[in-house]
Amino acid sequence: MDKRKFLKLAGIMTAGSLVYPIIGCNPPTEPKDTPKEPDTKPEIGGNFKLPTLSFEYAALAPNIDAQTMEIHYTKHHAGYVKKLNAALVNSPLAGKPLHEILAFVSKDQWGIRNNGGGHFNHSLFWSNLSPKGGGTPKDDLLDAIKSSFGSFDKFKEQFSAAAKGVFGSGWAWLSLDENKKLFISNTPNQDNPLMRGIVKDPGTPILGLDVWEHAYYLKYQNKRGDYIQNYFNIIDWNSVGEKLKALG
Ligand code: MN
Repeated sequence: MDKRKFLKLAGIMTAGSLVYPIIGCNPPTEPKDTPKEPDTKPEIGGNFKLPTLSFEYAALAPNIDAQTMEIHYTKHHAGYVKKLNAALVNSPLAGKPLHEILAFVSKDQWGIRNNGGGHFNHSLFWSNLSPKGGGTPKDDLLDAIKSSFGSFDKFKEQFSAAAKGVFGSGWAWLSLDENKKLFISNTPNQDNPLMRGIVKDPGTPILGLDVWEHAYYLKYQNKRGDYIQNYFNIIDWNSVGEKLKALG
């Protein structure tokens, strides 16, 4: 990254916090006076943790089955957290909040890019799922969706097309751009719109759908379209709305 681009990014990051709090995505802070056990573990560069789920593995069935949910969370997401912490060893990005790490990560920093993205993306994904989800957005979120896409149905159509259109593994996103307008995009692998130095359309995602095969293959096999359609039954629009609200 050249110096000018770095300064521009630094300006964006310090000008305002374009990120809402997501559980597990900030380095946990401990009171300074907490007595500590002698640390015999190898030094780690990050201290990120798997966030707690607000629902049971089976709670999203039949839209997402219990086995897929458990493997996805305890193996895939847990793996990203572990590898992110390892990738941050001796990195100047260690100790920073995750959204800042992602804003500054360069395309060649594969360990941090893939695993930092993996941790953020899955934390966001789980936080917007609920067995009581579905229906349509309300209030400010609905207004913002109408303003950007015309109607909720048109949004759903475009978002589903973006998810279906991911070649191989990746994500579909609903994000807020720097002019506070909502837009839809997709990214390969574990990239996301926070990676301003990498993605074509930077922004702050408030909704993301995992279309890696590990997210649906056990139940849906090759039918990604059915998985995307059923995802709309478990979106917690209140949670998505709160994220939009937090971004002002
Ligand atoms: Mn996944």
